[in-house]
Amino acid sequence: MARAPEGLVRALEEARAAQVAADRRDRDPVRFVHLQRRAEDREIVALLASSLAFGNVRTILTKVAEALDRLGPSPARAAGDLPRLLTKLEGFRHRIYAGADVARLLHGARVVQRANGSLGVAFSRALSGVSGGAPPSREHMQEALARFCDEIRVAGGLGKSHLLPDPRAGSTVKRLLLFVRWMARPADGIDLGLWDVPTSALVIPVDTHVHKLAKNLGLTRRGDASYATALEITASLATLDPADPVRFDFPLCHLGMLQRCPSRRDPLRCDGCGVLPLCRHWRGRGAGARNNRVTSARGP
Ligand code: SF4
Repeated sequence: MARAPEGLVRALEEARAAQVAADRRDRDPVRFVHLQRRAEDREIVALLASSLAFGNVRTILTKVAEALDRLGPSPARAAGDLPRLLTKLEGFRHRIYAGADVARLLHGARVVQRANGSLGVAFSRALSGVSGGAPPSREHMQEALARFCDEIRVAGGLGKSHLLPDPRAGSTVKRLLLFVRWMARPADGIDLGLWDVPTSALVIPVDTHVHKLAKNLGLTRRGDASYATALEITASLATLDPADPVRFDFPLCHLGMLQRCPSRRDPLRCDGCGVLPLCRHWRGRGAGARNNRVTSARGP
């Protein structure tokens, strides 16, 4: 485990503060979750929005909006009736996934939700089943996610569709971890704080942006996009905040996107990056040297 560089908390908090919550939310699929009033709808919409969160952001937002339009005013209730749901989502497509995949995912989630009272309770049961009643930690998260997914997959007849990934396969399962983050982290304008899961047990959802920044900041040396990498980055962030390491996910991801992080010293693209002084490509270079480079790259 790497120790996060000193000064990183302040840099990330400044980056987070610079992004107004409402603005950030409007550009993120989590916006659809906030539009729902009932907890059961929020859970179903969060699963839908996170599951479709691959590809470019504009397409994701369009596709989630289309699916919700088809579902009607209560997505949770709509998810309860599989034959009608299949009809509502007929013709829907997002990349390789068809409406039937989405229908089975949502129906499975609704069955699990009703059987347990909420998806949050179902997930907490899976987590405490893995931890054997001990306080849950990050080590239990992968298997708990796998059991939670098994339950939904069986209830919805989803089969092996990658729309709901298999956490035991070792990939980052970014979309699932994003779903859990939205539900479990305290309400802060982005995350919703609906689930009773300790934030210390969460694992960071790693996408290309987070992975690049994490490498540049020395939070991981791993080059693969794997669950092990997500765990390593989370462990490094836990040296900054053991109780809630994943709170740094949003600023890391958005900084990476905003800067289109080149993962090399690029005076133009790195200009304005909130973590530049801590980045391995710039560390040790004085502010003057950095400024000169930016100025000379942009001309007089
Ligand atoms: S300084 Fe540049 S390379 Fe380093 S993290 Fe920021 S954008 Fe990426």
